[in-house]
Amino acid sequence: MSNVDAQELAKFSELAHRWWDPESEFRPLHQINPLRLEWIDQRAGLRGRQVLDVGCGGGILAEAMARRAAHVTGIDLAARPLGVARLHALEAGVENLDYREIAAEALAAERPAAYDVVTCMEMLEHVPDPASTVHACAALAKPGGWVFFSTLNRNPKSFLFAIIGAEYVLRLLPRGTHEYARFIRPSELARWCRDAGLELQGSRGMQYNPLTRRYWLSGDTSVNYLVACRKPA
Ligand code: SAH
Repeated sequence: MSNVDAQELAKFSELAHRWWDPESEFRPLHQINPLRLEWIDQRAGLRGRQVLDVGCGGGILAEAMARRAAHVTGIDLAARPLGVARLHALEAGVENLDYREIAAEALAAERPAAYDVVTCMEMLEHVPDPASTVHACAALAKPGGWVFFSTLNRNPKSFLFAIIGAEYVLRLLPRGTHEYARFIRPSELARWCRDAGLELQGSRGMQYNPLTRRYWLSGDTSVNYLVACRKPA
């Protein structure tokens, strides 16, 4: 249990009660959710699949995937967001969904090659050893299974947009949400994926227009981006 930063978990735990408020600090996650859900579903086909969401937080993506008839397990190491996720699923009456407080590495040892689809969104930039998380996600996927990541690129533009813009100017996120040094270049993520035996299938960038307050997917991966990988059959 070494690949965890207690301060990072504390940040998310502190805000957990507002996780499902679409106007809160979690507004960006609510807004990008339909985009990433669609991208994942189009590739992997969620219906009837065994799906694992790593670093699920309050369950925005996990619950949406369960609503698409996947059998979803969400894992996180922050207890309060998990509590919020469980309560929300209960109130919403969403079944095929459960949550566990366990590290990806520990679950990979317990249930290797158990999932058709593994998702790990906006989480790698909060852990001390993201390559270890990527490795665990790969180990958790079945042969032929899909693994999806999203994170923040590291370059002057992403510093300007994701930290100065989002935390200081537009105040979409609390100050200190992200640490620039932990951002991950697509080439770095691609190397960790290859080292873990995954094959890259594609990537997309997420764009935001502060005037219309809308997000969309594009080919520009310079700030926020998604990656799709497959474990060879
Ligand atoms: N994936 C969710 C939440 C992103 S917020 C979504 O995109 O909607 C980042 C999440 O990563 C938080 O819930 C935080 O508790 C979790 N996290 C941070 N470090 C972690 C670790 N080492 N193991 C598991 N989860 C972690």
